[in-house]
Amino acid sequence: MKERYPTKKIFVGDVAVGGDAPISIQSMTFSDTSDIEATVEQINRLHFAGANMVRVAVPNMQSAYALKEIKKRISLPLIADIHFNYKLALEASSWVDCIRFNPGNIGEKGRIKEIVRACKERDIPIRVGVNAGSLEKEFDIKYGATSKGMVASAEYNIKFLEDLDFTNIKVSLKASDVDRTVEAYRMLRPKNNYPFHLGVTEAGTIFHATIKSAIGLGALLLDGIGDTMRVSITGELEEEIRVAKAILKDSGRVKEGVNIISCPTCGRIEADLVKAVAEVEKRVSHIKKPIDISIMGCAVNAIGEAKHADVAIAFGKESGLIMVKGEIIAKLPERELVDRFVREVENFVSI
Ligand code: SF4
Repeated sequence: MKERYPTKKIFVGDVAVGGDAPISIQSMTFSDTSDIEATVEQINRLHFAGANMVRVAVPNMQSAYALKEIKKRISLPLIADIHFNYKLALEASSWVDCIRFNPGNIGEKGRIKEIVRACKERDIPIRVGVNAGSLEKEFDIKYGATSKGMVASAEYNIKFLEDLDFTNIKVSLKASDVDRTVEAYRMLRPKNNYPFHLGVTEAGTIFHATIKSAIGLGALLLDGIGDTMRVSITGELEEEIRVAKAILKDSGRVKEGVNIISCPTCGRIEADLVKAVAEVEKRVSHIKKPIDISIMGCAVNAIGEAKHADVAIAFGKESGLIMVKGEIIAKLPERELVDRFVREVENFVSI
């Protein structure tokens, strides 16, 4: 796996983003932000699910005013998402830990200067959040909604901020398909060292969003690109966090919890492997320590996989083998296998 791209470290509240900081997970509420109770409830759900920071939409002044109270009642860093109206950014900047806006859609330079001054005063970062669906007119006309257009917009907006002597920046380049998203991030990465917020936007319902995000974010993470990320799902808030955690784990960027290796089954199988794997997955889901476990339907690949796994099972006809670090430690009837296996996994992580 490639080394992570060396980026500048910035802080969103107490969460470091970039540099050697762990890749953080963020999400966004869907409540009306001016409804303080509903917004706090959603933020707390995201916190409980494992989000490291949260973004809220600020479409009007009532929402901007609500941020003060929301901030008091949560402990996750809070990001305000602003479009078009600089006054919303000015009000929000007093209460939040980061502002997401695009200088290009705020308009007049004097207004942007005011936002930048406010962010400087509070020492909070700005996310330049380019979205293929809302490029500035000039880039849309010149390039269309392409990765080139997205990169041109990001470079323009970054320069805008740098010219105001503001470099407390992170950048995102989101499109609703994997191809443009990945291409844009790869194109922009060598051109600066600002931390990148990864995401495939408007990715759809859980099935499609998971696949798009796993391909897109996974490819970038394997390239060493990405400092914080959001998986965008039309669905439950918690699913975004669950999928993001799985992508970080399966791309090898986070070593945490149980990695299950299980065979897809075939005509050689003589046990109910689907049920066994589901039961093991449930019973080991609380484990945080990294461990590789292998659950195989017969001896064909089981011994080979067991050599790479910490704890392994090979099912056979009405019985099976349990192995720890490749060594067979027990041969048991099928009905006893899962219990013993889970015990061995728990023993392994407790050492
Ligand atoms: Fe088939 Fe055995 Fe391979 Fe599972 S481990 S897919 S049962 S050959």
